[in-house]
Amino acid sequence: MGAATVETALGPVATTGLGPTLMHEHIVTRSPGVHENWPHLFDRDAILSIADRKMADLYHRGIRTIVDLTTVDLGRDIDLILAVARRSRVQVIVATGVWWMPQRYFSSHGIDEVAELFIRDITVGIGTSGIKAAIIKCATDTAGVTPVIENVLRASARAQKATGVPISTHTWAAGRSGEAQQAIFAQEGVDLRRVVIGHSGDSEDLGYLRGLMERGSTIGMDRFGLDHFLPTAKRVEVLARLCAEGYADKMVLSHDANCWTDMLSEDDKRRTRPLWHYNHISDDILPALRAAGVTEDQIQQMLVRNPQAIFAARQGGAA
Ligand SMILES: [Zn+2]
Repeated sequence: MGAATVETALGPVATTGLGPTLMHEHIVTRSPGVHENWPHLFDRDAILSIADRKMADLYHRGIRTIVDLTTVDLGRDIDLILAVARRSRVQVIVATGVWWMPQRYFSSHGIDEVAELFIRDITVGIGTSGIKAAIIKCATDTAGVTPVIENVLRASARAQKATGVPISTHTWAAGRSGEAQQAIFAQEGVDLRRVVIGHSGDSEDLGYLRGLMERGSTIGMDRFGLDHFLPTAKRVEVLARLCAEGYADKMVLSHDANCWTDMLSEDDKRRTRPLWHYNHISDDILPALRAAGVTEDQIQQMLVRNPQAIFAARQGGAA
């Protein structure tokens, strides 16, 4: 068996070369259609220079890979992702899939037709870029599993089975959305070990979190800095507790932050969410975890070995 590789914006890399990896971030999120119609709202060069600085900050802190889970309904712009990746030393893994604000297209076309789009992104490439997605994003929010969301979840499951790449989800953790997602994926025959249930770090319901992991999935402790969902101290406490219980091999870390978004200016971010940025885990959370008894080996497990295993499994590696 050859070394496992994973597709990135700049082509395949060995999974052993991923290094410390943030499993749920965004480079740019925006409202699809707005900038196409009002291009004066979108200063591409300014955004690129913000991204250059933020990606360099990540690299200097030792982060080597980010997974950009930006979907079509979050304004995925593969040319922009490529431009940022070319100018950065941080590797970027790109996603296919749909978030929880799907365009009408996704309710008026069947599950298999939608799955084909995801499969195309993974096997042929996104648009004409040749860049292949290496992970499938889908989402359930406060409205729960609506008909269109169920369509997308089932399409994601079928694309997972057809391609072997992992699924990574958005959930409304307070509503225990991860359980409904796992039930649908299991019905579709997905191996739940190939699934990351995202935004689980918003929850302090240990029973819910243990259940997600006991059924095989990895949980995303992936919104560090978004204190309005769960304060930092609670996030650290829950994570340290689950590490102490032996779950470090089932958790991954991230911020769900972005370099730029049309939903919140950089000034508003600093004012309303001062800890929500790419450097928060490196600067604040890892020291807090160490102080809470999380070992260096457990940190390596969550930041390096778990992401590596999740992307290597496609070729019959771990998991
Ligand atoms: Zn996200």
